[in-house]
Amino acid sequence: MKRVYLDWNSTAPPDPRVFGRMEPYLHGRFGNPSSLHAEGREARRAVEEAREAVAEAIGAEPREIVFCSGATEANNLALRGLSQGREGPLLVSAIEHPSILECADGLRQEGRDVAVLPVTAAGVADTTVLESALGRRPAVTAVMAANNETGVIQPVEVVADLCARKGLGLHVDAVQAPGRAPFDVRHPGITAASLSAHKLGGPKGAGALFVRSGSPLGRQLHGGGQERGRRAGTENVAGIVGLAEALRLAVAELGSRRDALLRLERAFLAALRAGGVAFTIRGAAAEESRLPGTLSLGFHGVSGEGMLLGLDLLGVSVSLGSACSSGAARPSHVLAAMGVPKQENLESVRFSMGPALAVADVEAAAAAVAEVARRAMTRPRA
Ligand code: PMP
Repeated sequence: MKRVYLDWNSTAPPDPRVFGRMEPYLHGRFGNPSSLHAEGREARRAVEEAREAVAEAIGAEPREIVFCSGATEANNLALRGLSQGREGPLLVSAIEHPSILECADGLRQEGRDVAVLPVTAAGVADTTVLESALGRRPAVTAVMAANNETGVIQPVEVVADLCARKGLGLHVDAVQAPGRAPFDVRHPGITAASLSAHKLGGPKGAGALFVRSGSPLGRQLHGGGQERGRRAGTENVAGIVGLAEALRLAVAELGSRRDALLRLERAFLAALRAGGVAFTIRGAAAEESRLPGTLSLGFHGVSGEGMLLGLDLLGVSVSLGSACSSGAARPSHVLAAMGVPKQENLESVRFSMGPALAVADVEAAAAAVAEVARRAMTRPRA
């Protein structure tokens, strides 16, 4: 049975074009970029070309890019590094990824005040309370570009306008945007932004933090002074090359990927409806409010865990909210922040698609959803 992978937001299948670029750096071109000899210079050249490509893809300057081990590290570096030496609380939206929320919690335990920016029932950071929240002059504010569970696009521009006007720092977790929604860091209100390669068909364990020139960033790793002293440690050369290529492709193919994702999402929803499946889209339902191909769906009377396991047996891979908290059926903090009651929260499943899928794949997945829902409805309740 051919499996249908609908969990692209947790990690995307490897893109052979990206891995082709990385390959030479996994064996033959093995130099340490800090070494002065020919092997080292070759590796340094690859890292610096990748830096230029990443910067170009998001509208930054190469010196504003700090390579690191992924978006978890980038988010930690942003919150800790930008708040170091600055007064004021942290302001984080309620639907941020755990790498923001748990980091903020760690800083809270170290004595920093943390304020949470609420979201509306549609899953959008509530900009009506932003002005008063920013009145406390947060050391750093974190609002993501688009949510990984619901796909709902966040009002980054509005937040950036206000932060710029007040001279406050804003960090944007942009992990889910490339290849699905336009994203760049040209707005002067954006101080920092995080990216991850493996969401884009690149390798796991490679990411980057954009930090605007002139924004002091306290270092979190001490060592050999790599990345202009902002992130010590020998660079993951192959991973960095992969990140740059994955991001370059995501930006170059944005239009065609969006078209493909929209086609897939529409076909999936149409097939669910045709199959008589009752479902609710969690958060803003309008296509233009979400990343194409990301759907958090609630199935009344079917547990999310039952749906996930039933689909897995039928060859369809999905996740419950954030994959980072799956393994245990915990209500999603994202849906909870949107006011979704606990029972309905636990009846929600995330479907996330990628441009390499075919309409027939998502139609087969929809048939499997209908099958699992039908079985759950006809099973006698214990
Ligand atoms: N932020 C968001 C929005 C994510 O979806 C993820 C991945 N689940 C991360 C951060 C963490 O990225 P990484 O896996 O590169 O640490």
